[in-house]
Amino acid sequence: MRTTLFLLFSATLLHAQTPALEQMIEVRGGTLPIILTVPHGGTLKPENILARRYGVVAMDANTAELSEMIIEELQKLYGGKPHAIFCRLHRSKVDCNREIKEAAQGDATAEASWHRFHEGAQKACDSVMKKHGLGLLLDIHGQRHLDPRVELGYLVNSDQLKASDAELNADVALIAKTSIRELDKRSPQSFAELLRGTQSLGALLEARGIRSLPSATKAHPGFMASYFSGAYDVTAHGSRDGGTVSAIQVECPSLGVRDTPANQRRFAKALAESLGVYFETHFGRKLK
Ligand SMILES: [Zn+2]
Repeated sequence: MRTTLFLLFSATLLHAQTPALEQMIEVRGGTLPIILTVPHGGTLKPENILARRYGVVAMDANTAELSEMIIEELQKLYGGKPHAIFCRLHRSKVDCNREIKEAAQGDATAEASWHRFHEGAQKACDSVMKKHGLGLLLDIHGQRHLDPRVELGYLVNSDQLKASDAELNADVALIAKTSIRELDKRSPQSFAELLRGTQSLGALLEARGIRSLPSATKAHPGFMASYFSGAYDVTAHGSRDGGTVSAIQVECPSLGVRDTPANQRRFAKALAESLGVYFETHFGRKLK
C-alpha cells in the first residue's frame, strides 16, 4: 500500500515537472464562430523550462476558470461550444501574448509551447472561417487597474479613443490597423458605434451590469488612466492583416468579475448574452 502510494506520488510529481506539450497548451475544438484564447491563466511551472528574465511574469488569476464558465454559458444559450486555446504554463515560463522572443526568451520548450498555442489559434480561425465564413476571437485576460472595468482592446489606444466619433470614422489609417478591421466593413454601424455605440460590446455588457470600456457611457479611459488596448494575440489572429475573424482583447478586472465564482458566472452569462446580440447586429448572423 505504502509502495503504491509512493509510486503514485512520484508519478504525480514527475508529471508535474515535465508535462507533455498537449498539457502545457490545451487546444479544444468548437462549433460556434467564436474562439477563446487564454494565455495568462496557467499555473504549471515545470523545472525544465527556464524562468523568464524580463517582461511581465504575473499570471491573470482565475481567467482559466472564468473562460470555462464562458464556454458553458455559450453552450447553454447557443447549443455549441467555442474553440478554446488555454496556456496552462505559468506566465513566468512563457507569455503567449508576446512575440516569441520576449515570450520564450530562448527556452526550447517554451518556444514549442508558444508555437502550439499560436498554431492552435490559427487552426481554430481557419476552421471557423471555413465553416461560418466569419468569426470572433476573444483573448481573455485579467488586470487590476484603479477603475474596475472590463477593458475591451481593439488596437485603438487611449489617445486615439479621445477623438470624436466623426474623427474616428474618418480615420481610415487607424481603422485599417485595428483588430476588427474586417468586422468594421461588415457591420452596418460606423466604426465609432462599433467601439462605443449602444450596441458595442462594451455597451451590451454594461446593459447587463458589467462596467466596461469603451462603451456608450465611457468613450475613452480618461486622463492618465491605465487601459489595455490589445497586444500580440489580437494583432496576430484578428483581421488587421486579413481574414474574416476579428479579435477583441477582453481585460477583466478582479473586483466584480474574476474575484468570486458567483461574479465569474455573472460575467460569463452577460458576455454570452451580449455576444448573441453583437453577432446579430454587427456580423448579421444568429449564433444559434
Ligand atoms: Zn493577461
